Amino acid sequence: MKKRILVTGAAGFLGSHLCERFLKEGYNVIGMDNLITGNLRNIEDFFRNQHFEFYHHDVSTFVHVPGKLDYILHFASPASPIDYLKIPIQTLKVGSLGTHNLLGLAKEKKSRMLIASTSEVYGDPTVHPQPEEYWGNVNPIGPRGVYDEAKRFQEALTMAYHTYHGLDTRIVRIFNTYGPKMRLNDGRALPAFVGQALRGEDITVFGDGSQTRSFCYVDDLVEGVYRLLLSDYHLPVNIGNPDEISIAEFAEEIVKLTGTTAKVIYKDLPVDDPKQRQPDISKAKEILDWEPKVNRAEGLKKTLEYFKSLPKDELFKKELSFGN
Ligand code: UDP
Repeated sequence: MKKRILVTGAAGFLGSHLCERFLKEGYNVIGMDNLITGNLRNIEDFFRNQHFEFYHHDVSTFVHVPGKLDYILHFASPASPIDYLKIPIQTLKVGSLGTHNLLGLAKEKKSRMLIASTSEVYGDPTVHPQPEEYWGNVNPIGPRGVYDEAKRFQEALTMAYHTYHGLDTRIVRIFNTYGPKMRLNDGRALPAFVGQALRGEDITVFGDGSQTRSFCYVDDLVEGVYRLLLSDYHLPVNIGNPDEISIAEFAEEIVKLTGTTAKVIYKDLPVDDPKQRQPDISKAKEILDWEPKVNRAEGLKKTLEYFKSLPKDELFKKELSFGN
């Protein structure tokens, strides 16, 4: 009997890669998405596969899926600071109400459920690098609060279903991830810099660029999620690449990679922008025997090829895009 898995946020960046991986592993995959920030183009190839089904549905309302479900991966959520500003209520709802609906579904179907949490639960961290034991430094009422607090509530709710109902749960804390199928105009650093370089515009670094991030290639992330789902570990696990870089240096890497003659310009740092971020991945190494394999040079090359393959009018669309 083939295993059956539900992936929410299936038309998004990570969700679409996860659908692809589980189809390759021989699962029946149900993709679900309300297409607010997702794009059907990310999954159009899967519609030819008889083992793929798609439900156009918002998980913040009651979720019904007929038949058995072995696993649920909850990856539906807006996931960029620009999204949180434009759709703050949906962001809060999908992390809280959406998670509640899916936990209820998992309980009913006796499924194992993995939720996508985030390094944002650590906020602007005062501990560096961030281990899972760190409780974080989050501003609940700042612009990122709608995402950070929804994700923190999501973890609390998931643990409550685990302890109170005995539900089989997994929690992955995802650090900055990049790769093909990222949304070009979501305001994140990597698509912003690459888009600007390809259009010949100045590269906009926020603040003085000394803030750091650690970027993980999507294939590594998917492998980590896959291993965590199949493990028997129910506490949160960080998945990310510990190779940390300042945003100013990162912008220079994109300039070199694209060969743009545009210059780097500096703009105001957004409110509550974390100053540093690097995952402590000792748990993932020990429990999942996982560590990232793709270095930034290799990953950025593949990502650039993807952005270059997009239709030109999309590249030049100025406004920040939502979904299609
Ligand atoms: N950033 C930037 N220029 C941009 C977009 C983002 O300098 O055009 C900065 C942003 O302020 C942050 C970093 O790049 O310090 C990473 O931003 P991103 O939105 O990718 O991820 P997050 O802040 O959620 O980690």
